[in-house]
Amino acid sequence: MTTDFREYTVEAPTYDEVAARYAELNAQLDAAEAAEDATAFVDGVAAWDAYRRELSDWSATVSIRFHQDTANEEYKKAREYCDELSPKLTDLAVAMKRRLLSCGYRAALAERFGELVFELWSCDVAAFDPVIEQDLVAESKLNSEYTELVASARFEFQGETLTLSQLGKYAENPDREIRHGAARVASEWFADRQTDFDRLYQELVTLRHTMAGKLGYENFIPLGYKHMQRIDYGQADVETFRAQVRDEVVPLCLELRRRQAENLGLEKLYAWDEAIHDLAGNPKPDGEHDWLVDRATEMFEALGGGMDDFFAEMKQQHLMDLKSREGKASGGFCHNLPVLRMPFIFANFNGTKGDVEVFTHEMGHAFQCYSSREQPLTDYLWPTTEACEIHSMGLEFLTWPHMELFFGDDAARFRRLHLTESILFLPYGVLVDHFQHQVYEKPEATPEERNQMWLDLEAVYVPWRDYGDLAHPASGRRWQRQLHIYGMPFYYIDYTLALTCALQLWVRAETDREATMRDYVALCHRGGEAPFQELVAAAGLKSPFAPGCLSEVVARAKQELDLA
Ligand SMILES: [Zn+2]
Repeated sequence: MTTDFREYTVEAPTYDEVAARYAELNAQLDAAEAAEDATAFVDGVAAWDAYRRELSDWSATVSIRFHQDTANEEYKKAREYCDELSPKLTDLAVAMKRRLLSCGYRAALAERFGELVFELWSCDVAAFDPVIEQDLVAESKLNSEYTELVASARFEFQGETLTLSQLGKYAENPDREIRHGAARVASEWFADRQTDFDRLYQELVTLRHTMAGKLGYENFIPLGYKHMQRIDYGQADVETFRAQVRDEVVPLCLELRRRQAENLGLEKLYAWDEAIHDLAGNPKPDGEHDWLVDRATEMFEALGGGMDDFFAEMKQQHLMDLKSREGKASGGFCHNLPVLRMPFIFANFNGTKGDVEVFTHEMGHAFQCYSSREQPLTDYLWPTTEACEIHSMGLEFLTWPHMELFFGDDAARFRRLHLTESILFLPYGVLVDHFQHQVYEKPEATPEERNQMWLDLEAVYVPWRDYGDLAHPASGRRWQRQLHIYGMPFYYIDYTLALTCALQLWVRAETDREATMRDYVALCHRGGEAPFQELVAAAGLKSPFAPGCLSEVVARAKQELDLA
């Protein structure tokens, strides 16, 4: 019994319908309490969970359809309706979580669902407290303002009219003048609007600090961690990790940057040279969509772990949309459809190495969704984000031996570039995180003081960086281009934590591919049933917060990149 996703529809609920269903579920729980019937109470919670899955399938389907065809008025309306309804549905869900946290049947619930969910719900209840409801609405407005401002950017460059992300392709142009020119027009555009970007961030920081104060926190940092549902680590652990990146990875990056300049024949590397590693251009896959899907089929057959059967199902049910076309939204993502019990992946193939990278990445997320679909609660279908990205980035490394399928003779060059870019990302990732900690520790700082914080941290984490004549980033405002700093506070470190784990999978797979693949599959099966460090340990990996977590990876990377 399989569904063709192209035909899949989920009827949109009205708020009244959802509220009525919640009233029914609450009545069911009331009755169980009155009868002192723990089993009936637990069954009531399971019924609520089944209903949450229905709502998830609806919102995921609405989002997928909209991304597939942004010009379709019906899809657009459905998305707007979903955006409007979602905060109200969150309120209902949070109220239910609050009830369950203080109910008399915690032991019975824990027996069926495990203890972890109480900690997850505690985070949600704190992060969505009614006293900050209006502030959350204001926050989401400011976030949209930022997104719209950046999306409004248009550049006349090389005879084309480009958005900021389209301009991005020129960062890899072999002609240095063109790279510099692209960096300069972007810098000028941001400089012209720097008061807007300063004001928006000032307002966001003040608002978040106020919310934290209302909830009894000293500043926004602990509240931000709750938003991220961080249960088994805190600020001190994150500090330890950042220090390890600074001490072990930054020196390697200096070497990589030095060699990059040498390869490009440059005396000195400027900011506009950083994205290009080889004048020959990046490796490209040898074919297009249908060819790539056939190669992927061969790859998953060779990889094992059940990925071949899973991929066959994805194809059969049309759960992938990977081709670029007019009207389709940009980017790549994976959505879970818990009622359908399958995930969906979205990408925009454009003939670059990114096709293979994004595809493998999203397939990692998808395989986890599929593998953990038997988890008893919606809350466990995905783990927290730093663990999620292990599945995706991990698969990017575990598929290394099969890259010949896509890149032929260029596969070795692809692997080196993938590793180089991964290593170079780590210091930038922790820089973004460190900056945000300083910002929220000192919410009264002026824009100038904040820019100085960023410059001081750049000197620590990206000491090679030189913006030359680019006035906007040279004034300490490079961070204004990082969406996460505005819209997703404290999220960014998660990529580096996951990458640290994915790199360990790469090192381990070199010596014992089968056992590593088994651990990877087992990790995917667990979904979000445990917090981050527990999942990592069970997969045979060192916690990124443990001393020495990067030593082996760095040593192995040096060897691989001929820098040992
Ligand atoms: Zn991802």
